[in-house]
Amino acid sequence: MTKNQSSAIVIGAGIAGLAASIRLALKGFSVLVLEANAYPGGKLSEIEEKGYRFDAGPSLFTMPQYVDELFALAGKNPRDYFHYHRLPLLCKYFYEDGLVLEAHAEPEKFAREVEEKMGEPAENILRFLTKSAEKYQLTNEVFLENSLHRLQNYFSKATGWGLINFHKLDAFETMHAVNQRSFRDPRLVQFFNRYATYNGSNPYQTPGTMNIIPHLEFGIGAYFPKGGMYQITQSLVRLAQDLGVVFQLGCRAEEIIHQGPKVEGVRYRQSDGQENILRADCVVSNMDIVGTYRHLLPRLKAPRRLVSQPKSSSAIIFYWGVRQSFPALALHNIFFSQDYQAEFASMFESQWIHPDPTVYLNISAKEAPEDAPPGCENWFVMVNAPNNAGQDWDKLIAQVRRSVLKN
Ligand SMILES: Cc1cc2nc3c(=O)[nH]c(=O)nc-3n(C[C@H](O)[C@H](O)[C@H](O)COP(=O)(O)OP(=O)(O)OC[C@H]3O[C@@H](n4cnc5c(N)ncnc54)[C@H](O)[C@@H]3O)c2cc1C
Repeated sequence: MTKNQSSAIVIGAGIAGLAASIRLALKGFSVLVLEANAYPGGKLSEIEEKGYRFDAGPSLFTMPQYVDELFALAGKNPRDYFHYHRLPLLCKYFYEDGLVLEAHAEPEKFAREVEEKMGEPAENILRFLTKSAEKYQLTNEVFLENSLHRLQNYFSKATGWGLINFHKLDAFETMHAVNQRSFRDPRLVQFFNRYATYNGSNPYQTPGTMNIIPHLEFGIGAYFPKGGMYQITQSLVRLAQDLGVVFQLGCRAEEIIHQGPKVEGVRYRQSDGQENILRADCVVSNMDIVGTYRHLLPRLKAPRRLVSQPKSSSAIIFYWGVRQSFPALALHNIFFSQDYQAEFASMFESQWIHPDPTVYLNISAKEAPEDAPPGCENWFVMVNAPNNAGQDWDKLIAQVRRSVLKN
């Protein structure tokens, strides 16, 4: 740190914390990242055991441009740090009635597949995907690339354009209602309803605007990073370190120290129990917002609307090393439940998992054979779950395990 350099502490080395640390370093701050875990990445981390490697959380890589952007901002070539390729097949869908649908990334090919297997006219799919792209273009700059917490963003050209075209966003209908009037085949409605789960929403409640999500896959593309999802974390840590960011792992922040609105530093505890205080001109929290207000800023009145928002759904994941290989399976697979509406009612109303849940199966060894021993597969098996409301999780996990194995 030079004499006049401002200092920043980032609490958490998740993907957002890493991106923030890189941006702060590029703005000239001397940056320290405090991470509670012994490893960086947060949800974007990995597990290795007995010759099997699993990406612990995210498995689908969309919008790689936002990762590349960080390297470009630093004047680096992203390809010197990490590689990825576009997937021609997005996902394989298995329905209860025996139908197997291949979601090809190329919209025309996918539309032909749906017409052939479901009898749904190809033009319905193409029209729907065009609308998805349009919704994305109308909302991307306003919601994704800018903060809704800054007044000036409400007066931008993009917001004005979004408002003029507001009727195209289907904001006053549910995603399910929009999908139901867009398609004849209920299985296709179920297919597009599933995109609500990408941000932990319920398609029977979330607005039709969320139909922007299919565009991320069919329009912008789904990708696979060489070496697995964890390479995103690894490459960003390398970039951050190249920019002088310092990481202190195994350090849990316990309080953001402030005098009124002015931040002064962070009190944290090391894994050996020792407590320290570090001064900083700027503090960024990558911890969940509710945790940040409740635990790190106990003396500050939390904005009630922010901390009382309904919570998204959660997930139960099994990491299974399987001593066999299954040619009928792809990198991403979905085994749909028979009654999707009942499944969501169970998750969001009864806060329990339906006895017949939809199962997502990711096998990274399909793209990266080194992730499993020869002739074997690394199964990441995920079932959407209600958010934590004090359920008996052991009982819930045992029930899910039985349902998954039965299927
Ligand atoms: C099972 C699952 C599957 C997913 N699949 C996908 C997918 O396929 N594609 C996709 O794009 N997204 C997916 N997501 C979402 C994606 O993983 C998250 O949006 C993203 O990883 C969140 O990153 P983050 O940095 O905001 O938070 P996190 O990854 O949660 O990082 C927060 C970090 O802060 C640290 N921390 C917290 N409190 C403290 C403290 N007091 N002191 C110090 N450190 C602290 C934590 O240890 C953690 O490292 C998935 C999420 C899950 C859970």
